[in-house]
Amino acid sequence: MGTGINKLICGNWKMHHDHLQAVSTLQALSLRLQAANLSKVEVVVHPPFVDLRSCQTVIEDRHIPVLLGAQNCHSEDSGAYTGEVSPAMLARLAVSYVIVGHSERRRLFHESDADIAAKVPAVLRYGMTPIVCVGEDEQERDAGRTMERLESQVSISLSKVKKVGIPSVVFAYEPLWAIGSGNPATTEDALVARDTIARAVARASRGVAVEKGSGTRVLYGGSVVPENAADFVKKGGMDGLLVGGASLSPESFAAIVEAVAAVS
Ligand code: PEP
Repeated sequence: MGTGINKLICGNWKMHHDHLQAVSTLQALSLRLQAANLSKVEVVVHPPFVDLRSCQTVIEDRHIPVLLGAQNCHSEDSGAYTGEVSPAMLARLAVSYVIVGHSERRRLFHESDADIAAKVPAVLRYGMTPIVCVGEDEQERDAGRTMERLESQVSISLSKVKKVGIPSVVFAYEPLWAIGSGNPATTEDALVARDTIARAVARASRGVAVEKGSGTRVLYGGSVVPENAADFVKKGGMDGLLVGGASLSPESFAAIVEAVAAVS
């Protein structure tokens, strides 16, 4: 938090874009990204699994300055887990970031805190960076239980990570009521969440000397659009953004990158 390193802008494409659409979206995005902005902002796209190989090829062949991310993975390296994809497989596709515990996975696919706790060290073991999604639902917010929820999600997600690995974990504050709703959190909400996450990470890392400048990065996600993106970084103190809907269009995703670079 406030580490001075580049801001991180991640586009979660969810179950959108087949591999041909993914390649053309990446090409269109690369035409809109300005080199000057990319020295301040790291840009990642998280396509569906079946698109990853095509995206890897086009990124490498055309030198597109975008990193590859995945939306999920299993915690085991291999095994009888029909329909699952391992972190080892993702690492072979040059994936750099893996979203872990997105609220849609928790809610629609019954991913438990224990599943998430197992995935985080698995992603780190392969040299990739986990982006752990945390956030309260509407009921928890209304009951004033946001901080409690964030603290518990952070602490469980780090429970199986070696202490030296903790600073490498990225957190995304994604209040459930803000995702896809057109109703983003306020920058004040973001500041409180960022501090709560920072405190929970510090508690989990107790006893580890964290080098200056290597602190945990916290992203904001939930109805980010080009018009509100800069505020989450400038006023909300966020280290970047996890963008869903607005990352599907190269125009709006590039505009978000530009807006964040302008205040970084
Ligand atoms: C998300 O799903 O991670 C997300 C932030 O979605 P949206 O930007 O569409 O709210």
